[in-house]
Amino acid sequence: MAVKLIAMDLDGTLMSSDHITVTEKTKKALLKAHHLGIKTAIATGRTLSVIGNVLEQVPFIDYVIYSNGASVFDRCKGENVYTSAIPSETVSRLVAVLESYPVYYELYAGGCIHSQADKGKYFKNKDLPQEFLDFYLENIKNHASLSEYAEKNDIEKINLFYFGGEFYDEIKRKLLAVSGIDYTSPVSGDIEMTAKGVNKGAALDNLCKAINFTPDEIMSFGDADNDIEMLQFSGCGIAMANASEECKRAAKYETLSNAQDGIAAAIEKFIFEPLKPKLLVSACLLGENCKYNGGNNYCEDVAGLSAYFNLIPICPECFGGLPIPRVPNEIINGRVVSKNGEDYTKEYGDGAEKSLYIANENNCGYALLKERSPSCGFGKIYDGSFSGTLTSGNGVTADLLDENSIRIFGESEIDKLLDEFDF
Ligand code: SF4
Repeated sequence: MAVKLIAMDLDGTLMSSDHITVTEKTKKALLKAHHLGIKTAIATGRTLSVIGNVLEQVPFIDYVIYSNGASVFDRCKGENVYTSAIPSETVSRLVAVLESYPVYYELYAGGCIHSQADKGKYFKNKDLPQEFLDFYLENIKNHASLSEYAEKNDIEKINLFYFGGEFYDEIKRKLLAVSGIDYTSPVSGDIEMTAKGVNKGAALDNLCKAINFTPDEIMSFGDADNDIEMLQFSGCGIAMANASEECKRAAKYETLSNAQDGIAAAIEKFIFEPLKPKLLVSACLLGENCKYNGGNNYCEDVAGLSAYFNLIPICPECFGGLPIPRVPNEIINGRVVSKNGEDYTKEYGDGAEKSLYIANENNCGYALLKERSPSCGFGKIYDGSFSGTLTSGNGVTADLLDENSIRIFGESEIDKLLDEFDF
């Protein structure tokens, strides 16, 4: 999967639980993706006027899908590439219902939130931090008459915030009886209404058509039910661990929660990892207890190569069916012989064949192998006297890999290996 665009919901997804901060780890992962030429989009129920603080933290974001998908803003061009407003007749009917109750509601238009000055007192949401609420309320334009404003402007979204209100069920029934709208309730007590067919998935579809991307080139992240269509549209839809159950069912994959940098973890796994070159590595150098005496040859510098490579561990002697622990072997006159005089040439040959098969399956052109071993050693191996004396030669697996043009390095040659890749 070659991802060309990453689309992300904000609250519960890109934002930390304070609804204000994007963590350093997530910013770093998104910036790295940006440097790889991958486009990024915010897909939010908010509108443009209340995401300035987000864009200050991730200024390289290319597109903003806002008002739950009613509009898509191209930040490079400075214009909307798609808009779908609620028909004016429908707006009038919805506003008439809302005006007949003592409720707080908002109209989203032209990238701003509009409200009626005297209704702010109805705004209550105990789940949101005060700092976020202050920021949010500061960015609302107040009007003497919201119904008059609604008559004269294209309305993208209407929000009713009515947490725990006694008329909630009655109002909801009346609003949903108005034809020509879609609605969502990302937070209990909140009803967000847009034109029929408007959602983040449809907006993403329109954005893809405008920039010639296909759904399988899209990775998206979400946590709430208003993210479902976006996750279903994307070739790689990923639900946060804190997502609703329905949202998780709509996604192909699940990542960690927003509090655990779930976006960064998934970008690492699905985008950065596959781009790393693969390196065959002796498993004992990575700490696997596969050495003849049941121990390992763990080397921190070798394990640290996972920052640059996808490490593919092999233990040719185990692949050849030899037990752990086992009597040590060395090469004498082209045969692999144990300290007890038993011949294990066939087992070493089998292990070498399996190692080559794994290298080919994984397209490994490079290997980092344990030096001096009768399997993995390259250039110098023990001389068959079991006295620790070295001689020129290759271990059986190293020899076969070398014959098949795989470049081999030992654990003392890490710098040389990194130089080859210009890391
Ligand atoms: Fe390590 Fe290679 Fe020996 Fe396995 S065969 S224990 S990987 S040196």
